[in-house]
Amino acid sequence: MSLAGRTAVVTGSTSGIGLAVAEALAAEGARLVLNSFTDSAADHALAAALAARIGTSAAYVGADMADPAACERLIAEAAARFGSVDILVNNAGIQHVAPIEDFPPDKWNAILAINLSSAFHTIRAAVPAMKAKGWGRIVNIASAHGLIASPYKSAYVAAKHGLVGLTKTVALELAEAGATCNAICPGYVMTPLVEAQIPDQMEAHQMDRDTVIREVMLARQPTRQFVAATEIGATALFLCSDAARQITGTTISVDGGWTAM
Ligand code: NAD
Repeated sequence: MSLAGRTAVVTGSTSGIGLAVAEALAAEGARLVLNSFTDSAADHALAAALAARIGTSAAYVGADMADPAACERLIAEAAARFGSVDILVNNAGIQHVAPIEDFPPDKWNAILAINLSSAFHTIRAAVPAMKAKGWGRIVNIASAHGLIASPYKSAYVAAKHGLVGLTKTVALELAEAGATCNAICPGYVMTPLVEAQIPDQMEAHQMDRDTVIREVMLARQPTRQFVAATEIGATALFLCSDAARQITGTTISVDGGWTAM
């Protein structure tokens, strides 16, 4: 499979799953637009290093996915830079863990904005060009928490369930346009996002670090292993292939069997 000539935008792609997805798409020849909310020399250097390492074109566009105007600007700048946005991966996400009665409303608003509404704004901006071209791939990085719930993650679970619903609706609207929209639902992947929630989980569950990893995180995954970020990259790459052109409006779980239980 080759994605040569295709341009991919991956939101929140300076670390973790987003970076792994970007690397997987670039390895097949896609031009890459990396993104996060910062705009530092290190961000631009990351894109330059990816381009040099893989031998494709890559750019970094700083845009805060909490800001609807910035979401639209990300798509416009990517199209201006590389001519079109053919592949859109909505990956940016944050987490906060707290009981519902203590859940800070500003955290709720931020999680809904970054994990759900940003996908609405980027998809809205990208779809006209995909329709005009008759080809497009939208991959939303949801979560096992887009299908089932866990305690203390009210905003995250609500946002990810919403993202799965958005995925289905967009797929139906694009069904005759040669463009697909799907969601990947990872289980626990050891990334900075997961590392950062361990202290909160320790407090919420009154457990030590090893017990949280064993009893809260990996207890949910029958394989008892973290998913590798590269495995999410490989799944996104498959969804962007021609072999996946009839796969649309669905979720693909990459969760070590979590949602089979
Ligand atoms: P991560 O913290 O390593 O990466 C998140 C990325 O999003 C970073 O590049 C960060 O800079 C960026 N980001 C954060 N806020 C942003 C904003 N306002 N605007 C633009 N970019 C922003 O996390 P990750 O684990 O790689 O998570 C990536 C996605 O995968 C998230 O949507 C997350 O919910 C989802 N996910 C992760 C896991 C897991 O176990 N790690 C499991 C299921 C789903």
